[in-house]
Amino acid sequence: MVGGDVGGDDHPRGFRVDRVSEHLHFVHTEHVNWVVYAGPDGVTLLDSGYVGQRDLLVASLAAIGRRPEEVAAVLVTHGHADHLGGAAWLAEQFGTPVHAHADEVPNVRRSVMEQAGGAQVLGNVFRPGVVRWAMAIASLLEGGPGLGVPSATALPERDGRISVPGRPRALLVAGHTTGHAAYDFEAEGVLVVGDALATRHATSPIAGPQLLPSMFHHDPECARRSLGRLRSSPSRVVLPGHGEAWIGPADAAADAALANGWPW
Ligand SMILES: [Zn+2]
Repeated sequence: MVGGDVGGDDHPRGFRVDRVSEHLHFVHTEHVNWVVYAGPDGVTLLDSGYVGQRDLLVASLAAIGRRPEEVAAVLVTHGHADHLGGAAWLAEQFGTPVHAHADEVPNVRRSVMEQAGGAQVLGNVFRPGVVRWAMAIASLLEGGPGLGVPSATALPERDGRISVPGRPRALLVAGHTTGHAAYDFEAEGVLVVGDALATRHATSPIAGPQLLPSMFHHDPECARRSLGRLRSSPSRVVLPGHGEAWIGPADAAADAALANGWPW
């Protein structure tokens, strides 16, 4: 386990890297997580933080001995600002290919935006944690709703696997957004779930697997129904976009999230 502290503060602006399998590294930050596959076949980044976390992204790659230009491809679970910032920067800076499920590409390119806006956030400011969360992420958005990636394309799949380093399998887990995908690294026993479920969030009193608050989902009922799709994964480690890693079978994580449901 290695950590870093970019910017001098103690924890909030820092990150922690946990190596969860032979080639997968879980990068945990206070507000959102990303994952790095670094193997003999190259480096794949899965999700990429807010635009304001670019320094953390670079530092997290350095912590595992890699440079940003070594990233062969970025797979995004979905096109929300907290998962896209680094991808937009890598695509612009180095021409790094960015891929998402075909149904999600419009969100990633920002021709569609299935994301909680200011009105939904304002309508929920009375909920515990929402004001503090909104103020914290405002600085990470650097004044805008978050960049899209105009060059993003659909997952390059062959024989049911994605042709990027690590060759994960994509699972469509719709609801949070229309084309939200999870990425299953079966050889590593690790499932990257994005926001299909979370294990903790600043706006939720629940600890453990759960759905994010309903305002964050494009279609909350669909997000709940889709949890069952995670059961097809044999993986024993589940990496969410928000909260700590879940060490245990993917189907148990899905069941726990179903039992907890949405905090509100
Ligand atoms: Zn998210």
